[in-house]
Amino acid sequence: MLHTNPAFDRIGEENAFAVLARATALAHQGRDIINLGIGQPDFHTPEHIVEAAIKALRDGHHGYTPATGILPAREAVSRRTLLTTGVEVSPDNIMILPGGKPTMYAAIVMFGEPGAEILYPDPGFPIYRSMIEFTGAKPVPVPIREENGFAFSADETLSLVTPKTRLLILNSPANPTGGITPREEIEKLVAGLARYPDVAIMSDEIYEVMTYDGEEATSLLKFPEIRDRLIVLNGWSKTWAMTGWRLGWSIWPDQLYDKVRKLAVNCWSCVNAPAQFAGIAAIDGPQDEVDKMMRAFDARRKLVVEGLNGLEGISCRTPKGAFYAFPNISRTGWKAKKLASALLEEAGVALIGGPDFGILGEGYIRLSYANSEENILRAISRMAEFLSEAG
Ligand code: PLP
Repeated sequence: MLHTNPAFDRIGEENAFAVLARATALAHQGRDIINLGIGQPDFHTPEHIVEAAIKALRDGHHGYTPATGILPAREAVSRRTLLTTGVEVSPDNIMILPGGKPTMYAAIVMFGEPGAEILYPDPGFPIYRSMIEFTGAKPVPVPIREENGFAFSADETLSLVTPKTRLLILNSPANPTGGITPREEIEKLVAGLARYPDVAIMSDEIYEVMTYDGEEATSLLKFPEIRDRLIVLNGWSKTWAMTGWRLGWSIWPDQLYDKVRKLAVNCWSCVNAPAQFAGIAAIDGPQDEVDKMMRAFDARRKLVVEGLNGLEGISCRTPKGAFYAFPNISRTGWKAKKLASALLEEAGVALIGGPDFGILGEGYIRLSYANSEENILRAISRMAEFLSEAG
């Protein structure tokens, strides 16, 4: 018998990948499946970014790079951060990592241990809880409520801090709800955190530019009073449609930087070199493709919300950011995961049940609108037909 570390039995899943696998299997059987499940842009990475990677390969960038990332890539992230947040960040505080998830992993294993508590959003990205459980720390869900516009409540978050709290995970714009936490609420939260100087903060800002209707997502970087204990997760995956490149960045305070550098040396050595050159081209090159993608998401967002609100028993708030709708389905009489599974198997529409994002996800489903307008309309009409037949 093999004796594996029991921590591995506590690792969870990101069910979006299981739904993707099932949707792909059904499609291989000849079924016409509309995929509103997985959270990735349905656009190609812009051509000049692809070209930069090809050039880097041709120029001979085939070897290891520094574990923290090549300096020009870290300088590019520094320029980008100044542009999006107005805050100066030294390249010496920037890490280039293989995607956004490795930052999540690094921050959670850095602060998680038996006896510690980590606060995370519920509903929220499922990997937060999974990784907290992995470390043996206690996951403490911070409720993200529909009636609060799917924003963090500063008071409720602060009320959950105990002497054992080591890390607070924030995410805005948010997956799966599309919620954005307003600046005043973040100000209140930061002010309250002054009472808890031993609590680190990881702000997942991977959807930072994906906002609509003139909404602004407030970066936690704007608050110098917490900079010495703030980790900011960001990356290329969503903004430049680069999920498969595995390229992310994060900003670390001086006191944590060497720890994450050493973790990188131990775990992945460095991010593949051509991808880092592609990342520089993404930041410094034209942004018209990004603008085009965001205009498409905005139009689809309106279609999805209008379509969902026309369905019996379903109500959907207009998401303010990211590319997800998180409609309330409690009046349909269906349990969310059962409905998601029936819609995939019987109606050929792949989406995710809210409980895959946390306890408070019951009564909701998540639709990613990273799909064509035509497919979104087809999906809505299939859902309408399914609900009227099943009801
Ligand atoms: N953070 C959030 C909130 C996400 O939704 C995702 C991906 O879906 C990630 C991080 C991970 O991004 P990456 O694919 O770069 O690892």
